[in-house]
Amino acid sequence: MATPSESSDSPSNQKSESRDASILIDTVDVLQNGSGTNVVRRKLTGFVGFSNLPIQWHRKSIQNGFNFNVMVVGESGLGKSTLVSTLFNMPLYPPRSEKRPSAEIPKTVAIQSISADLEERGVKLRLTVVDTPGFGDFVNNEDAWRPIVENIEQRFDAFLEAENKANRANIVDNRIHAVIYFIAPTGHSLKPLDIEVMTKLHNKVNLIPVIAKSDILTDEEIVAFKARIRADLDHHKINLFETPRYEVDSDETMEEKTTIISKIPFAIVGATSEVTTPDGRVVRGRKYPWGVVEVDNEDHCDFLKLRAMLVKNYMEELKEYTNEVLYENYRSAKLMAMGVSQDQSVFKEVNPALKQEEERALHQAKLLKMEAEMRMVFQQKVAEKEQRLKQSEDELFARHREMKESLDKQRRDLEAKKAQIESGRIYMSTEEKSRKKGFSLRS
Ligand code: GDP
Repeated sequence: MATPSESSDSPSNQKSESRDASILIDTVDVLQNGSGTNVVRRKLTGFVGFSNLPIQWHRKSIQNGFNFNVMVVGESGLGKSTLVSTLFNMPLYPPRSEKRPSAEIPKTVAIQSISADLEERGVKLRLTVVDTPGFGDFVNNEDAWRPIVENIEQRFDAFLEAENKANRANIVDNRIHAVIYFIAPTGHSLKPLDIEVMTKLHNKVNLIPVIAKSDILTDEEIVAFKARIRADLDHHKINLFETPRYEVDSDETMEEKTTIISKIPFAIVGATSEVTTPDGRVVRGRKYPWGVVEVDNEDHCDFLKLRAMLVKNYMEELKEYTNEVLYENYRSAKLMAMGVSQDQSVFKEVNPALKQEEERALHQAKLLKMEAEMRMVFQQKVAEKEQRLKQSEDELFARHREMKESLDKQRRDLEAKKAQIESGRIYMSTEEKSRKKGFSLRS
């Protein structure tokens, strides 16, 4: 049996390896999964090599690096830029210039994006933060959602266009992978603007709502506020991003996912500077006369849970869900609207057993059809032959009748001639007799 160290790339070795691999299949289970599809499970008892795939994937990912695009939506001053800087542990936004009182105030929500190349333990990340300055800042915020939704859709459109180009080798994914929606820490409930915007966004992006500046609320206020927000979100059927659950998840991972989900909307505190706690520790946090609120302390806020969902544990899932569900829905709706329909049968799962059965039935039907056709041709040929035989039989009969008639006629003629000759002979013999006696009948 070939071990990984023994294997070489020579054709003879490849042949024997593939033969070994087929011999190694010691059990074959055919399982029925939920969708009624047969799943064939083969257990290998020796090394084949594909267990290295995660290592290969890791190596490739390190080489290519990652990108992540996050949008922050919320009124000015809710701490959006502070939170982004806290999440990635570096000042991302350029220092803001003081606005002169006479400066013209923009009348619409602007969309601004800032990108940064980050590196942590050799892993490169191109982070893009899309900010929405001006959101919720006007007297009339009726269409505040429009530029945001348009920007998200434009990014989907650009990706769709890039995908449809002949060369798709270097597609840059500028789609928004998550939206952090900042809820003002009023302690009451969601505002109509919050509900309107989240309703417009939830089917287009992974929506992650957070309670901004939660350090200004007491623990009890946060609990009650969260419950009211969750009730509002449920009532308006607003979908939020939830960490997916996998079969391979350990109990610990499952528990962690449940805790993360239970904390939504995350009550967060942002702080980029370090402060000293009364017990002498230096932490990221906010210092008040009554004490220190620590950003990285689970007892003080949900910052670590937000970071786990957004960066540490589920960034890849956010990107995957964006690509496989949100973008896919947008893409198919767009193509449908353009009149491009899709043959679903092309995408149906192929079940080998069902496929074989289908092919057998098709083959059987083909055989039956061929048999019927052959029978028809045979019957046609027999009928033609019978017809020809009957025709030649009729012709034979006719010829026979004709011949018989002509023979009859000949016979009759001969008999008539015979009778005539015979009567002539009688006459002659009488004449001869009389001539012999010495006289003649001639005058
Ligand atoms: P943005 O306009 O939404 O980007 O808000 P900024 O990040 O510029 O923050 C506005 C002000 O709020 C700044 O003075 C921040 O120091 C402060 N701030 C940011 N995050 C918090 C927080 O979690 N708690 C409190 N109390 N203040 C915060």
